[in-house]
Amino acid sequence: MRIVVLAGGIGGARFLRGLRKAVADGTGGGPDATTITVVGNTGDDITLFGLRVCPDLDTVMYTLGDGINTTNGWGRADETFTIREELAAHGQESLWFTLGDRDFATHIMRTAMLNEGLPLSAATESLCRRWDLGMRLLPMTDDPVETHVVVDDDGTERDLHFQEWWVRHRAALPARAIYGAGAEAAAPAPGVLEALEEADFVLLPPSNPVVSVGTILSVPGLREAVAAKTVVGVSPIIGAAPVRGMADACLAAIGVETSARAVAEHYGPDLLDGWLVDTVDAEVAASGVTGISVRSRPLYMTDDDATADIAREAIAMARKIVGAAR
Ligand code: GDP
Ligand code: CA
Repeated sequence: MRIVVLAGGIGGARFLRGLRKAVADGTGGGPDATTITVVGNTGDDITLFGLRVCPDLDTVMYTLGDGINTTNGWGRADETFTIREELAAHGQESLWFTLGDRDFATHIMRTAMLNEGLPLSAATESLCRRWDLGMRLLPMTDDPVETHVVVDDDGTERDLHFQEWWVRHRAALPARAIYGAGAEAAAPAPGVLEALEEADFVLLPPSNPVVSVGTILSVPGLREAVAAKTVVGVSPIIGAAPVRGMADACLAAIGVETSARAVAEHYGPDLLDGWLVDTVDAEVAASGVTGISVRSRPLYMTDDDATADIAREAIAMARKIVGAAR
């Protein structure tokens, strides 16, 4: 079985841990019979202190590699902040984005490789070699794409890098628009279209529909390649709120209501074949969404076992849809 997953940061990474466990426990014939390819979001990437930082790729890498700070869901475990303290002493201003010493080493290694002329996909592969991910992690593109947010700052329109809006302003400035700078000119990274071509189905983890999955789908050619497959998604919205983070602010910016139904309708039946919603949203499964099969079950990724159960259900749903289409 070949599975492709489009992943953002925390929600994507946690789902992938569960998916890896589900596959290892025999769902789909065990780990040797199944390959998982992750297409990671790079729209959150930012250059700080001359270093290229790829927050979502690193969150996936650290989470699958058991190197993540499990409390925050981002950054390294057993982290120290000496470099940050020194930068503060130098009066550096970009300290709103927290980087620890261990994390800095990742960005130094990545930047060195990029400066040598390696594409991001090769640098990512090299960084992943240190960790035992149990799956392949590809950036969505090797080209620079940066998510920007047009905000209303007391009546004045300003264009901010996504991280500045999200981390520095905690998404508090109302967003008028969200766009991927450079997206139109980007191409899928090597291996992405091939993995999609060979995939039995695609899973969308409960990642942010706008700035994680939406950004990945904005790379020319990707949406079509994904839509050509059976796609099953897990809702990041439970009830009327994101489980974690401020995805509601992103959905509001593109005029989509914060609900499991609205997100499914936003993805649309041309993209999405199956949709898992939480039991509190059982009404969505009962009344249905046109062109998409919907099932409800608990969707809190409280630990790897609970998440593996969610992943098993997503796989079962995808296989059923694939089987029915044959
Ligand atoms: P980010 O890049 O770190 O923001 O992470 P993602 O885009 O991958 O995922 C963010 C989304 O994960 C948020 O919209 C959350 O609502 C969702 N999320 C986090 N934890 C859970 C969970 O336990 N269950 C579900 N269903 N969604 C979750
Ligand atoms: Ca992210």
